[in-house]
Amino acid sequence: MHEAKSRKITTGTKEWADHNANCIDGCSHDCRYCYAKKMAIRFKRATADTWRTMKVREHDVKKGYRRKEGRIMFPTSHDIVPDEPCFTACMTILRKLLAAGNNVLVTTKPHLKVIEYICTNFTQYKKLIQFRFTITSMDEKKLSYWEPGAPGFSERIEALKFAFHAGFKTSISIEPCLDDDPRELVAALQPFVTESIWLGIMNYCGSHAFTSTASINNWIAWLSSNPLVRFKDSVKKRIKIKDCTRFTKPSMDN
Ligand code: SF4
Repeated sequence: MHEAKSRKITTGTKEWADHNANCIDGCSHDCRYCYAKKMAIRFKRATADTWRTMKVREHDVKKGYRRKEGRIMFPTSHDIVPDEPCFTACMTILRKLLAAGNNVLVTTKPHLKVIEYICTNFTQYKKLIQFRFTITSMDEKKLSYWEPGAPGFSERIEALKFAFHAGFKTSISIEPCLDDDPRELVAALQPFVTESIWLGIMNYCGSHAFTSTASINNWIAWLSSNPLVRFKDSVKKRIKIKDCTRFTKPSMDN
């Protein structure tokens, strides 16, 4: 908690962690709104087609990891998939980060097999791990359009339940929210969340804007009274909250 107090609150992934770790180029989830993909294409590290092919960065797998102050988010520019060799690479890094004593925020659109493996094989590090599962809608059609390579809603909520029942810390990212009104989604996930539910809206994706300002004004009061809900900067900016503290819970550590 002390780390959180000293942390500069900023935007994007820095709202959640002080450091990040990655070991793969590309991501087979191939989300249409992916910022990492957009940057990789802009800087000619990938094309729209090659992004789907995941390549392990061996040097990131082989190197050592020391303990860092604050929390490490893993991964941030790809996801953890059950396919080899990516799965073993991700588990190797996760184990190294935890063995060094780091607090790790495992961020993923969860594959059930991956979560079952972590919950079964990393029990000694339970206190150092917090899962943050990205679940952006309950609508399977929307998910398969916007996140075509990622697991559907039913698999993601099964993974959430598994981690919760295994006694791990669980939290949710509904970002980007693909619905106009996320209240039903929040209600479905909440029973299996121990820490927080973060809500963010689409910042960029051509002309797409899923969550209207009128709608946000309808649900913001209802959700802000929910002790688990946190709003990402994108929500605060859209409704032009001058005093953001009204919607910011005391600890940014969860
Ligand atoms: S899961 Fe994350 S890294 Fe992978 S394509 Fe989707 S947004 Fe990008």
